[in-house]
Amino acid sequence: MSPDLEGIDRVAVLGAGNMGHGITEVVAMAGYDVTMRDIEQDLVDDGYESIEWSLEKLEENDRLDEDAETILGRISTAVDLEEATHDADLVIEAAPERMDLKREIFSEIESYTHDEAILASNTSSLSITEIATATEHPERVCGMHFFNPPVKMDLVEIIYGAETSDETAETAYEFVEAIDKTPIYVRKDVNGFVVNGVLFPFMIEPAWMVSNDEATIREADAAMVHQRGYPMGPFELADLTGIDVNVHVREEAGQPVPPILKEKEEAGDLGKKTGKGFYDYEDGDGTDYEPEDGEGFDTFRVEALIINEAARIVGEDVATADAVDTGMRLGTGFPEGPCRRGDKMGLDSVLEKLRDLHGEYGEERYEPHPYLVELVEAGKTGEDAGEGFYEYGDSSERDYQTLNYSLSDAGLLEIELDRPERLNALNQDLMDEIVHLLDHVDTDDVRAVTFEGAGDRAFCAGADITGFAGMDPADVDVTPVFETVAEFPRPTLAKIEGFCLGGGLELALACDLRIATEDSAFGFPEIDLGLIPGGGGTQRTMRMLTEARAKELVFRGEHIDAERAEEWGLINRAVSDEEFDDTVEEFVSDLVNGPPIALRMAKEVMNEGADENIDAGLRMESQAFGLLLTTDDMMEGASAFMEDRDPEFEGN
Ligand code: NAD
Repeated sequence: MSPDLEGIDRVAVLGAGNMGHGITEVVAMAGYDVTMRDIEQDLVDDGYESIEWSLEKLEENDRLDEDAETILGRISTAVDLEEATHDADLVIEAAPERMDLKREIFSEIESYTHDEAILASNTSSLSITEIATATEHPERVCGMHFFNPPVKMDLVEIIYGAETSDETAETAYEFVEAIDKTPIYVRKDVNGFVVNGVLFPFMIEPAWMVSNDEATIREADAAMVHQRGYPMGPFELADLTGIDVNVHVREEAGQPVPPILKEKEEAGDLGKKTGKGFYDYEDGDGTDYEPEDGEGFDTFRVEALIINEAARIVGEDVATADAVDTGMRLGTGFPEGPCRRGDKMGLDSVLEKLRDLHGEYGEERYEPHPYLVELVEAGKTGEDAGEGFYEYGDSSERDYQTLNYSLSDAGLLEIELDRPERLNALNQDLMDEIVHLLDHVDTDDVRAVTFEGAGDRAFCAGADITGFAGMDPADVDVTPVFETVAEFPRPTLAKIEGFCLGGGLELALACDLRIATEDSAFGFPEIDLGLIPGGGGTQRTMRMLTEARAKELVFRGEHIDAERAEEWGLINRAVSDEEFDDTVEEFVSDLVNGPPIALRMAKEVMNEGADENIDAGLRMESQAFGLLLTTDDMMEGASAFMEDRDPEFEGN
């Protein structure tokens, strides 16, 4: 494996702490030579040991493409700053969060590195512009903000300082892609950049509400998690990140701090790290809120402010709506991006909510951002209006938020479920987007379709129940996606690597063929939630497996491994990681080069015939057979056979 990005061969990471060692590990895993530097040998050694430990874990879980030893072999360590940076093409600074220290480091490394080297800071909250002015060449300085822990978190913000050149930012962006992470551009050096900026109101508004006796801590956390699908409640999150850190960041930004945060800080109850914060982790039960605690909490008040913040960022050209949404999903695990959520909720109602709050409290933070006002006044109120932060409408030109796809000249439509932060779980958007794509693609251009999951852990781990939280049961519409996939008039194949559970298994079963890596896991966990599979799982398994096996899967809710799934006939092949791509390729090649009309008819009569008695099925088959006798493809197949060559089917 060798990195393919021009201009960057050697990387130096400054700091072997929490972030520094994680960044070093990620960079080495991607194939780069990297030197990790800290100010004392002990600190370097600690960082190195943490990397060894982490790589070992990854290796045990089969998550590395090569030996841990090989990866470690790319890492060198140093205490001397010049030694660490003199031959680096990219320096990533991850030293403590102090402006004076960062400025000193940047001014020094500039003298050691060559003229083209990129100097990046991993700061979460300091101004890139101010760090850069410590150098003679601020155009070569940018922010490269990883999230904690770097090995797990997919997102990296690339931040422009006032002087950062496009070339610097673009190279940094490409580098992040080359190390298999997802970059977003933050085009202006604003406080909190994108992700922490949008996260502020999520944390701070509930803290004001509690400070003003308008809500309780449990109400806020329960409502945001169980009604709105956030992975953690705001107070739970504050306990995890450290209440002192939150106070400090607010104060640095010159923003007022809600009294409840100050009180905790002054009492030394800083969260998990001190054993006590908003919850008691030592003598109490930790985060002990229950779903029903959230009743009556005004979640809209918090989300209106989040969406307003997103409007500020988009309206002031700090980032695109897409970047904001990607950032929040990958950086914080938001169930969907705030721009997308705002478009769904209706930006007019968001604006009205803000105006009401502003009228009631008179606080500046409720003032709607002019960009939000502009969108609403232009009639761009969101999805129902056909345009909001995003454009909708029924055109095939739609921007997909939750999937990626490509259509090759040969006619292979590859669809990647792209919610790795949720193990590609199906939410309403993802299901809608699959349906939209299959409904709008020109089937004449498609010969076969494959589905796969983004990331390396799951095909699809199920339906994202948090995404359905708070929805009216009448609005939850799960079946169309499975029908659309099952009835798509081209062969479909599920490429399964990792979890394939619940709705994910139903999606795979709606495909015609399934190939899985040996370490994949299959199952219907619905029963443990008091549910049953709702996307065809009970019916397709009864037709596909023996009754005993189908009922075992549905009733017990246990996982089965790929080997058993193959033995049962749930999948076509279980193969090792090394064989996976080749096996898929062999299948795909047959499907893409096969006769399109005959494949379509085979699919149709086999699917429909399975639901009929055998006489009806045989009648369908013979009709199809008769029709196929008149096709050009059939003539081509026959001639190729006679001439002992590969046929070239045109689909006529
Ligand atoms: P940390 O305290 O765990 O590690 C910092 C390390 O830098 C320490 O080992 C320290 O000895 C070392 N150091 C001090 N001076 C140095 C120098 N001149 N050269 C090289 N190393 C030096 O801190 P951290 O959590 O890893 O944070 C580092 C940076 O990353 C900060 O700017 C922080 O804002 C940012 N960040 C942190 C997180 C997080 O969640 N911890 C997330 C994103 C970004």
